[in-house]
Amino acid sequence: MVRLFCQTKMNALAATNRNFKLASRLLGLDSKLEKSLLIPFREIKVECTLPKDDGTLVSYVGFRIQHDNARGPMKGGIRYHPEVDPDEVNALAQLMTWKTAVANIPYGGAKGGIGCNPGELSISELERLTRVFTQKIHDLIGIHTDVPAPDMGTDPQTMAWILDEYSKFHGYSPAVVTGKPIDLGGSLGRDAATGRGVLFATEALLNDQGKSIAGQRFVIQGFGNVGSWAAQLIHEAGGKVVAVSDVSGAIKDKNGIDIPSLIKHVKEHKGVKGFSGANAIEGSSILVEDCDILIPAALGGVINRENAKDIKAKYIIEAANHPTDPEADEILSKKGVIILPDIFANSGGVTVSYFEWVQNIQGFMWDEEKVNAELKKYIQQGFKDVKEMCKTHNCDLRMGAFTLGLNRVARATVLRGWEA
Ligand code: GLU
Repeated sequence: MVRLFCQTKMNALAATNRNFKLASRLLGLDSKLEKSLLIPFREIKVECTLPKDDGTLVSYVGFRIQHDNARGPMKGGIRYHPEVDPDEVNALAQLMTWKTAVANIPYGGAKGGIGCNPGELSISELERLTRVFTQKIHDLIGIHTDVPAPDMGTDPQTMAWILDEYSKFHGYSPAVVTGKPIDLGGSLGRDAATGRGVLFATEALLNDQGKSIAGQRFVIQGFGNVGSWAAQLIHEAGGKVVAVSDVSGAIKDKNGIDIPSLIKHVKEHKGVKGFSGANAIEGSSILVEDCDILIPAALGGVINRENAKDIKAKYIIEAANHPTDPEADEILSKKGVIILPDIFANSGGVTVSYFEWVQNIQGFMWDEEKVNAELKKYIQQGFKDVKEMCKTHNCDLRMGAFTLGLNRVARATVLRGWEA
């Protein structure tokens, strides 16, 4: 019998374009301007040959999609993941354009990636692959053109290698990447920034609803940099994290998981699996666990038409990029679930990247208190601006954020010389 494969997850680019078109319609954008905003500025695809430790050669494909630069240098992470494909990177680059505009930092958007499994590569293989990729794109990135940063599967060490390789061609230029180690001009507070931004964004939303973090029950999908920092800061603010998952497995304790102990366990065992302070559950059930607030902090497209109807959370905070399909958006909206969209909820990372870049250019280092206080100001202002757009266009928070971002980019484009 022939069984047709049924796709429950919508293509990332189709999903992002759909949100873009809805927002463009709300704003009444000119169709030619709309087209120009949608098409990426430049798409780079390069072959990267990696000499493995055993002497064999393996070929990887690397991408850098530079989506838009109307408001400033293009900005966005570089991801190492087996599922990296051009459509996904394209969608993520476009989301960065709207994200930097929502955050009101002077950047455009870009994203890059290599389709590889970093867990299967040794440290020296990762270093060589990163250097080869940098050799292929060094002429097209730069302090005032395109500034990469970490994303899934990459970290401050990856940025240090990019900085070193780039500097061989262009001279020492710390501001060419952000999310660097502190010793190479990284910013204090950058490591925690996306998670801290998620906390501030959640606080802003709850305050608006007459609520606070304390006593709320959270479920977090993903326990990498973003998920673990969000969990720790929510725990410190009095929130109860009742379930957590990562690639190794999922755990639950309805009385609240002891997050500092879990973080210790994850450092030692490379995953949440086997944590003795909670019960193991099926990884697939994490999104539909009973809670007040669900935080997807892993891959895109995880909330789709298959599981949306079973979600019990009243609020979803999108710490991941594009975790919710438009089809799921509709189902959840009918159920009255409030979604804080990715391009606002996870903007803390790129906002502190901006602070890092500013510090590098000024040659002056801020203390962590200043970084965190500035981040809080940006997130609180962002929430006010998104809500204002919701009022103007009588729309939900996702469309509020998209119209805010699109409008700012469209205005910059027109000011720079677009004629309709
Ligand atoms: N990769 C992060 C994001 O998706 C941070 C990007 C940056 O700091 O440039 O927002």
